[in-house]
Amino acid sequence: MSMYESEDVLDLIVVGGGVMGLFTAYHASAAFGRVAVLERGTIGDPTTASYGRTRSYRKDYLDPVYARLADDAIALWTDFERVTGTHVLVRCGCMNIASASITPDMSSTYAQLSTDTLQRLGLAPRTLRAEQLQQQYPYLRADVGFLDDAAGLVDLAAVTKALLRTLETRKVAVHENVETSAVTQDGELVRVHTDAGDFLGRKVVITAGHGTNGVLDLLPGCELQVPITRDRPSEAKYFVPPPDVRGQFTSDVMPVIAYLDTGVYVHPIVEGVMDAVKIGYYNPPDIPRGRTGIDDIADFVAQCLPGLAGAEFSDVLDVDQCDYDLVADDDFVLGQVPGFANVFVGVGWRGTGYKFAPLVGRVLFQLALQDGTVYDISRFDPARFTSSTGKPVPS
Ligand SMILES: Cc1cc2nc3c(=O)[nH]c(=O)nc-3n(C[C@H](O)[C@H](O)[C@H](O)COP(=O)(O)OP(=O)(O)OC[C@H]3O[C@@H](n4cnc5c(N)ncnc54)[C@H](O)[C@@H]3O)c2cc1C
Repeated sequence: MSMYESEDVLDLIVVGGGVMGLFTAYHASAAFGRVAVLERGTIGDPTTASYGRTRSYRKDYLDPVYARLADDAIALWTDFERVTGTHVLVRCGCMNIASASITPDMSSTYAQLSTDTLQRLGLAPRTLRAEQLQQQYPYLRADVGFLDDAAGLVDLAAVTKALLRTLETRKVAVHENVETSAVTQDGELVRVHTDAGDFLGRKVVITAGHGTNGVLDLLPGCELQVPITRDRPSEAKYFVPPPDVRGQFTSDVMPVIAYLDTGVYVHPIVEGVMDAVKIGYYNPPDIPRGRTGIDDIADFVAQCLPGLAGAEFSDVLDVDQCDYDLVADDDFVLGQVPGFANVFVGVGWRGTGYKFAPLVGRVLFQLALQDGTVYDISRFDPARFTSSTGKPVPS
């Protein structure tokens, strides 16, 4: 008789029920029957990063590694829509813009450099010059726009709903309001001790966002603490265009617009999801902000979006009251927890992780239950942070 016969042994226990944890459970449960998610709060808690109305999906990174991963992730989103029979992507496109009056060296703008990267990968966006932009987007002022039609917005509520419904169908147990007190090795298995009882599993995946270091702390002898810090958009506002021009700002005709040198992105109105144009001002990864003379959203509207200059606006307060999880070396943290063959972690998405969620979930499932992943994730190895300082370990 096995020593565990009296207890259910799960294939996988996921600690943290944000989008990364739910997608891990989604992929795992397509192949394995016994999967559980343990969430400290509630799924979709407004204070977590995976709560909101829209997130952009795009592949316009400067670094080809992230651009390729984003491209793969978009294919996985489409698969997700097919498998779940839902529409979660708003396929409005994403356009990076630049203006010589704001960024005089047009060859080194984020728009140009990310386009150069995508061109090398055979994923080039369409180029629109000032005249075309003026014609197509009369509210916009820019000298150039690089429009990727295979990009857009993710509808977060639709994603969470489709994930939870699918997990329920597949009999994945999603436990909310569960406080974990210890994670211990039990022979070849892992035991997660919680106030709702013990969970025994073959493998554990930790996707606890800002709670990740707290969970790692519960593993006796674990040296890993991830150097994640918090950041958030310095400003986010809803703009309500006047009724006579509202039709120009809806996602069937308006793409996501980004001018990352200025730290600004703009999401169009999405009918039934977001009844205003959302403008955010933040510290984008890969590029220093604050060199352009655009210091807030008002500056941006005045110089780049004159069509919204007279529109009513208000602060975004209903969503996005959460922080990005930035990593000291600005790379994802994804892989096995050093010293623990059956525990894996995914965190540190640099404020840009949502679009990668189906891919991250797939990688974590493959690592945990398929003994390895088809992706080269060596660069994201958590072991780079196992020095006693918590700083990146020099290679
Ligand atoms: C304002 C904002 C705008 C963003 N915009 C974009 C965008 O446009 N495009 C894009 O691609 N990405 C964007 N992102 C990033 C993206 O939303 C995040 O990378 C992603 O949601 C992270 O998901 P997660 O599951 O890792 O974290 P979370 O959603 O934070 O989930 C972690 C979960 O773990 C739970 N937890 C914590 N501790 C424990 C514990 N001890 N036990 C059990 N559970 C625990 C938490 O309650 C939480 O539910 C944005 C992020 C923010 C904050």
